[in-house]
Amino acid sequence: MIVVMRPDHTPEQVQAVMDRLVMFGLQGQPIRGVEREVIAGLGQVMQEHRDEISMMAGVDEVIRVSKPYKLSSRETHPKDTIVELPHGVKVGGGHPVFMAGPCAIEGEDQILAAARGVKKAGAHVLRGGAFKPRTSPYSFQGLGLDALKLLRQAGDEVGLPVITECLSVRDVDVCAEYSDVLQIGARNMQNFVLLQEAGKTGKPVLLKRGMSATIEEWLLASEYVMSQNNPNLILCERGIRTFETAIRNTLDLNAVALVKRLSHLPVIADPSHGTGKWYLVRPMSMAALAAGADGLMIEVHPNPDHALSDGAQSLTPNNFGDLANEARRLGEALSRPFAEPPASVASGA
Ligand code: PEP
Ligand code: MN
Repeated sequence: MIVVMRPDHTPEQVQAVMDRLVMFGLQGQPIRGVEREVIAGLGQVMQEHRDEISMMAGVDEVIRVSKPYKLSSRETHPKDTIVELPHGVKVGGGHPVFMAGPCAIEGEDQILAAARGVKKAGAHVLRGGAFKPRTSPYSFQGLGLDALKLLRQAGDEVGLPVITECLSVRDVDVCAEYSDVLQIGARNMQNFVLLQEAGKTGKPVLLKRGMSATIEEWLLASEYVMSQNNPNLILCERGIRTFETAIRNTLDLNAVALVKRLSHLPVIADPSHGTGKWYLVRPMSMAALAAGADGLMIEVHPNPDHALSDGAQSLTPNNFGDLANEARRLGEALSRPFAEPPASVASGA
């Protein structure tokens, strides 16, 4: 931290700050400029240290220098993290991936049709919600454990790893049993106990950005997972709330580009929730890739008109196929070609 002294400070006040720094186990280095004097506080600086120093006599302001998030920061870990999933899928490291499937698992035929469709189009991960965080308690809430089993079965049948949202601490064990990746949804980004419990499973976790969360809050939330000795974290920008009502959310692609710079973690984008409109998903997918996204999460439903949740933003398997083709061409042009998808499982399986 940098402690900026007031123009009218006294030498005794500088000494008092220096003494307090020593008390905190920090090193103080006074620097006298032409107009102002500052003190560099070096060492393991905590928020409480900054708060105390900022209240001392003669102190004008305290400026933080290093990032408050440590495990997810590039400062401490310059190399890209690559999260490894079953079937040889790797997320991060310059080869984008597709995570695709329905918003919610509605039944065996639906999830199988979706799984086959996204597999054919070249998806790397099958998504599907079993426990749904719906705004209204009267809306479809997901099929719970039955859905998890169907998701696992569909993933195994087509040969894709699966991801599902873990809605509460109550669901962590069962989600970890059936799913390869635990998704923490936007509404739960700051459910710190859930983040810790998901982290403890050791399973890869995908952490969506909260709809009103700053980038710093998002990265601090990621620390709750990583501090459980779990480095397998993927971040997902899914749109934030702004004054704009013409679209469901504002997909913040600044965040994708910035977080790629601030953090070593893979960052993917979810243009389905980010826009709420199926016809915006394709252009915003391309924009997200151009911004540096390590992958796309796309809602795909065999029959979007009859979907029990998020039909308006869901693509048909054919439309997803077109999106995937265009995205692969863009990946080549950006010198970030998509990762090879898992091979097909032997037919008859
Ligand atoms: C979802 O992925 O279906 C979902 C509910 O996402 P979010 O948490 O981003 O709203
Ligand atoms: Mn959804």
